[in-house]
This record gives sequence, C-alpha cells and structure tokens, in this order.
Amino acid sequence: MDVAKSNWLESTGQMWKLYLALLSCGLSLIAFPFAAIALIAGYGLIMPYLVTGTVLSIVMVFWLMWSLRCPTCHRSLAWNMITTRSHMTWLVDLVHLDTCPYCSHALKPSRRDCR
Ligand SMILES: [Zn+2]
Repeated sequence: MDVAKSNWLESTGQMWKLYLALLSCGLSLIAFPFAAIALIAGYGLIMPYLVTGTVLSIVMVFWLMWSLRCPTCHRSLAWNMITTRSHMTWLVDLVHLDTCPYCSHALKPSRRDCR
C-alpha cells in the first residue's frame, strides 16, 4: 500500500485543504502576540491584529467544514466530526475515517486498488 496515501484525505486529493486550514490557524495565532506587543508598547494598533486573527480563524473553520466532503454523498465530514466527537479527537478522527458516517461509503482505497 502506498504510505503517502494512507488516509482518505490523501486518496481523495483533499489533504491540501487541511494543510491550508492548519497554516491559517498558525497565522491566526501569530496575530495575537502582535496585538499583545502593540498593547504593551502603546502603539494603539491592537484592533487590526485582533480582527485579523479572529476573522481568519473563523473563516477557515467554516471553510474547512464546508470543503471537506465525502466524495460520494458530498456531505460535510468535518462538520460531522466536530459535532459528534470530542474537541480533543475530532481532527484525528477526521483524518483516520475509513467510511463516510452518512452513506457508509469506503473512503480509503482498498488494497486491490493500490498500485
Ligand atoms: Zn458519504
């Protein structure tokens, strides 16, 4: 089996969406220390950093919920994981899904399909 395509996100070509969301999350987290530095230094430019970090994180969470979909039934798998799993495990559970929780379609290619 191809190790690089060991999860359904890789095999359906949707892994870039997760990477983009994680990158966006990192950029959002970087904006908040800049706001704190601006507050401590007394520059008065706190709001642009806070608004950028907050808006970027909210937009990326909604985009991730909208874009990560089952290739068969096209329902949002990220939304299902966020609403049915623990906040500690939903992302790991999402990446390691074997079947769609809505239509039970196999998300990973079977060993026969791998070359
Ligand atoms: Zn499905």
